[in-house]
This record gives sequence, C-alpha cells and structure tokens, in this order.
Amino acid sequence: MCQYDTSGVQYACGHYLVTSLDRKHDCGSRYCTKSAKHPRECRSFDCKQYYGPDLTQKTSISTAYCNPCQEAFFSNLPRRR
Ligand SMILES: [Zn+2]
Ligand SMILES: [Zn+2]
Ligand SMILES: [Zn+2]
Repeated sequence: MCQYDTSGVQYACGHYLVTSLDRKHDCGSRYCTKSAKHPRECRSFDCKQYYGPDLTQKTSISTAYCNPCQEAFFSNLPRRR
C-alpha cells in the first residue's frame, strides 16, 4: 500500500498534528486504489482503499497547546463578572 512522508508538530498537550504530506511513496500495485497503477474504472472493494502508516515523520516540538486544546482551555476559564 502507498505511504507518505509527513511533517507534523508534537504539542505540549500531547497531540500530534500532521502539517504537510511531503512525499508519496507509490507502491505500484494495481490492487491499491491510491497507486498510480490502479485502473481508474476499477470499483473493487478488494483493492486497498487506504494509505499505510506514515513512512517517515518529521516532528517539530511545540511548547504550546494545539488550537482545539487552547480553545477548550480558555472557554473553561471562569468568567469574571
Ligand atoms: Zn499503494
Ligand atoms: Zn482496484
Ligand atoms: Zn491538544
């Protein structure tokens, strides 16, 4: 099955977010829907429908929380009246 090299950010909250798909590794199989070799007209569900796990991950470490966590954190703060 086809796989990707990806870049991502590891946040302080523990979440990992993929920021870019850098390079595709085409497996060259006719039975993988993600491969360039796969016939377009094929609708067989026996063919692989998904990408494999990332081949490599370039990870940058962030000391911040990811956006959803930041929003959750700030919306949970008690509001001053
Ligand atoms: Zn493939
Ligand atoms: Zn197919
Ligand atoms: Zn998070």
